[in-house]
Amino acid sequence: MDFNWLASFLVHANWLAFAVPIFLLFMGIEYLVARWQQKKYFQFSTSVANINVGIAERLLDTFTVGAFYFVYDSLHRHFAIFDIRPTVWTWVSLLIVTDFVWYWYHRLAHEINLFWAVHVVHHQSEDFNYTVSARITVFQAVVRTGFWSILPVIGFPAEMITTILLVHGLYPFFIHTRTIGKLGWLEYVFVTPSHHRVHHASNPEYLDKNYGDVLIIWDKLFGTFVEERSVPVYGLTKPLGSHSFLWQHFHGLLELLVASWQADGWRAKWNVLFGRPDELNPTIRQELESRFLSTSAAERRVEHTQRRRFRGYVAGQLAGTLLILFVFLLFEHYVPGWLQLLTALFILLTLINCGALLEQRQWVLYLEVGRVAVLWLALYGLLGYPMLIVLGYIGALSLWAYFSFIRRHYFQLVYGSGPDRLWLSESQ
Ligand SMILES: [Zn+2]
Ligand SMILES: [Zn+2]
Repeated sequence: MDFNWLASFLVHANWLAFAVPIFLLFMGIEYLVARWQQKKYFQFSTSVANINVGIAERLLDTFTVGAFYFVYDSLHRHFAIFDIRPTVWTWVSLLIVTDFVWYWYHRLAHEINLFWAVHVVHHQSEDFNYTVSARITVFQAVVRTGFWSILPVIGFPAEMITTILLVHGLYPFFIHTRTIGKLGWLEYVFVTPSHHRVHHASNPEYLDKNYGDVLIIWDKLFGTFVEERSVPVYGLTKPLGSHSFLWQHFHGLLELLVASWQADGWRAKWNVLFGRPDELNPTIRQELESRFLSTSAAERRVEHTQRRRFRGYVAGQLAGTLLILFVFLLFEHYVPGWLQLLTALFILLTLINCGALLEQRQWVLYLEVGRVAVLWLALYGLLGYPMLIVLGYIGALSLWAYFSFIRRHYFQLVYGSGPDRLWLSESQ
């Protein structure tokens, strides 16, 4: 037996990929604990939407992580003020400085429109459980990197920064839960689930509070600390009312784009971008919602997302995507560039598809066709059989010939009704 391959795999495999099954395991345990406590902390559509956002971030992270490292390393080589070497004390200092920078990053993410437009995604969930910790977008990672850039300038080497960001990034996963109450003396020093429940609440007394990530001392120092007393109500002050993957990611940026477009002159545009979110004209969101969201679908959503067959289909898509993501991350260094791009495209199409299914959209069928086409391309690229071209040709012809038949059966499967009924109620 050839052990060289195994040895090479042990060195080159991306072991961070195991974060995916481990996080899922914790979500599963939390779900069971919540059931045991007879609490309904998980809703199907919200959990799917939360995990979908996380899948996209983990996926796109593989393409950005190298760029972020390059930024830290270049800044360190050219602008480092101090020459910091790794010792116990510099590691501890780095953790504290990182947490301090996080506090200000997070606070400004709530106080400045441009940053809020991407951080808002983390706050859209009306549930509060471990799946919410997955609600981070790649746009947020880009903004955060801007803030982390202060660390290499101080003099911390890029290797130290990326390591500490890993530890610092793991911690908040565990504070997104309602199953853990108050934690005694830990409440005075660390950010606990209780503190972070306050941060995610839309109760007036809880707004813009508890920004800390690991240490709660910054909030106490800068006057943004509030203790959890009344029961939190989770989500945005004006709930999003949509599980669409695209809408969740882009509504904040779209609102900002329209607001700055409408503002007269550069000064006014600047004020919109760097102004406070609560000063943004609320009618812009209403107009965008009436243009991009289907209200009739929102009314029907409750009904169709309850059906077992629908849930089975969506849960199956989600499980498949998670498996592909895990394998993709684990073998990252073995996957050629073209296959990485096709896998990323397939996963993103599936996430958009799942969101659109929850919203009972009509165009999901075209996305499904797109997904099959990407799958076919990947297969052809991997195997190179000429027979696949013939099969693809026959498949495309059959799709064209039987499109209305396929459409009727597909909608019957996922929505429990034919397309005619859907078209009718959509136009009402
Ligand atoms: Zn926040
Ligand atoms: Zn959070």
